[in-house]
Order: sequence, then structure tokens, then C-alpha cells
Amino acid sequence: MIPVTKTFLPPQVVYQAILKQAWDAGWITNRGALVKQLEQELCHYLQVPQLIATTNGTLPLQIAIKALDLRGEIITTPFSYVATTSSIVWEGCTPVFVDIHPEYFTIDETKIEAAITPNTTAILATHVYGNPCDVAAIELIAKKHHLKVIYDAAHCFGVTYKGQSLFNYGDVSTCSFHATKLFHTGEGGALFFKDPALYERLFYHHNFGHAGSEAFQGLGINAKMSELQAAMGLAVLPQVSQLIDARRLAYIQYEERLSSLEVALLQLRPHTQWNYSYCPVIFKSEAQLLKVKQALESAEIYPRRYFYPSLDTLPYLEGSSCPIARSIATRVLCLPLYHDLKRSSIDQICDLIKAQL
Ligand SMILES: *Cc1c(COP(=O)(O)O)cnc(C)c1O
Repeated sequence: MIPVTKTFLPPQVVYQAILKQAWDAGWITNRGALVKQLEQELCHYLQVPQLIATTNGTLPLQIAIKALDLRGEIITTPFSYVATTSSIVWEGCTPVFVDIHPEYFTIDETKIEAAITPNTTAILATHVYGNPCDVAAIELIAKKHHLKVIYDAAHCFGVTYKGQSLFNYGDVSTCSFHATKLFHTGEGGALFFKDPALYERLFYHHNFGHAGSEAFQGLGINAKMSELQAAMGLAVLPQVSQLIDARRLAYIQYEERLSSLEVALLQLRPHTQWNYSYCPVIFKSEAQLLKVKQALESAEIYPRRYFYPSLDTLPYLEGSSCPIARSIATRVLCLPLYHDLKRSSIDQICDLIKAQL
């Protein structure tokens, strides 16, 4: 069986040696030593000034919306995982979809201004597959119209754009450390931000508003990462560069094998140093995609339709139509990509695809 992705599990002895520190301390959550150590090591690895580790990658989106005091309409992308949209709705705001760029699949920055109304308070965009949005254009639009910018950077671990971490862009940027993501803590995530004044707001929000044990500083929720999660992160982090290298080799093999076929691969925005987090392939038609998917599944190979359906078709939303996102969402299939995917498996997958086209 070949899944779309496989979680990297560190050697159990490594994980247990780190866990032992929590046992010795008798402390397994509430920002213990391991969470603090992971935050420090991540700052160093990613070259970001600060971050807050969280228990998943969805709460940071909700916390960012709260901390920036957003109301009304938030301009967003229909081509992402559902959490991008559901967080907006969950926080009582209205998602306003702007269609995506036909090559990069990120929000089409040239269509944002037309979607701004007096009720617009922010732009929440996804660097989908780790491919950067046009962050410079979005920043200009945001400044001009006094909007906040949040990036769902769930796919961006280790990606740099114009020489710095992609997490450094936007007012707040969020990541997911879910087991299916490149760097993981089982479940987990993080908040990134530049403005030191935001630190307090985000920090209190992620821990019930606690300011010490008896005082509260505003509203909060529980988004804390536990020591058990942090221990996994500390065991995975030293391996992450090798994981990216292994994925790069696998991805290059896909590129070589698929380039002669009538399918399109992801086009990266220039100045991006990528993390090979996904291997999306765009077919000519949905019918072709379904044929390929079925052929692969018959061979016990399980690609995934990331990201389908286009989020502007969600049943609890109405009134927008993003034809490019809908077209891409129906034709894109993510092929298996992980650190120890065999070269022979990639050959087999590419042969099966070729036979269906
Ligand atoms: C995975 C993902 C999330 C949610 O992260 P969780 O850690 O699963 O809560 C949010 N946005 C995008 C784009 C994702 O891919």
C-alpha cells in the first residue's frame, strides 16, 4: 500500500529519551520545558524572530482573527484546506472568495481590490502547497485599504521566499504540525508574527487569557501545545533537513518521468526555495483524473484530491463563484510523496499514469 504521505516517526528510543525529561519533571503540559525548548529550536531553524507553539494548526487561524479584532468580511482563497474558510466562519466573519492565479494557484492579487467593500477588514490567504502568494502586492493593497493580512502557511515549513522564512510575511502567519505535514508533532501548529506588541495578545488568547494563576488579560481559549507533542517535535526536527532532501529527490524523479506527459506540475513563484511538501499534478479533465485515480487505487496506491472541492462550493456558504479554483480543484491530484518512497514506486506510479492518458 502506498499512501499519499507517510508520517516520519523518529526512533522510539529518541522520542522516549526526550519524554523522560517530562516524566522526571512530572510535567506534561502548561508550557513546560520541552515546549519552550521546541519554540527556541524552531526560531533558530526557521530564522524567525518569535513564535508560539499551539496544539494544532486551526486554532492559530481562529486566534489570529480574534487577536487582530477582525469583523465583517475577510477576503480569502477558495483553493485551500477547509480550515482556512471554516476558521473565518467560526469566528463570525464572512469569507469573500477571490479566485486564484491560474499558474501559482494562490489568491489572484489582481482581483483582490475589486472584492473590497466598506466591511472588509482583512485578507486571509494560503501559500498553497508552500507556493508563496504575491506577498508584496498583497501588502500594498492591505496598506492602502487599512486591512490586516493573515497567511495560512500550513504547508510552508522550511520554505524561504526572497531569502527569508515565508512565515515572516503578513501580520500573522500560521502553520500546522499535523502528522500529515512535513514537520510534525502528531497534532500541533504555531503562530508567527513580527510585531512584538502582538505577542501578548496572541499569547494570552492561546492560554485562556491567564496572566498568572489568578488574573486574566482578556478573552482566551485553550490552544496550548503539550509536552508530549513538543517531545515529538524535538525528535523530528533534527531530521527535517534530511526529510526535505529525500523528498526533493523523489520529486525530481516525478518531474523527469512526468514532463513528457500531458499533465502540468506545480509552477513555483520565482525566488522561492521550496520544501517539496506536495506533488500536485494537474490533468486535462476531471474524467482523466478519475481514470488515473482508479488505476492507481487498483494497484493499492492512494493519491489524494488536495484540494477538492473548491471552498466556494461549501454547503454553508453561498453567493460566490471562482471558476479558476473550481477548474483546478476538479483536475488536481496529489501523488504520493514522502521521505522513504521507493524509486521503483515512483516509476510504477508514473507508468500507471502514462497508461491512462
Ligand atoms: C492542515 C491544514 C490546516 C489545519 O491544520 P491542523 O493542524 O490539522 O489543524 C489548515 N490549513 C491548511 C491549508 C492545512 O493544510
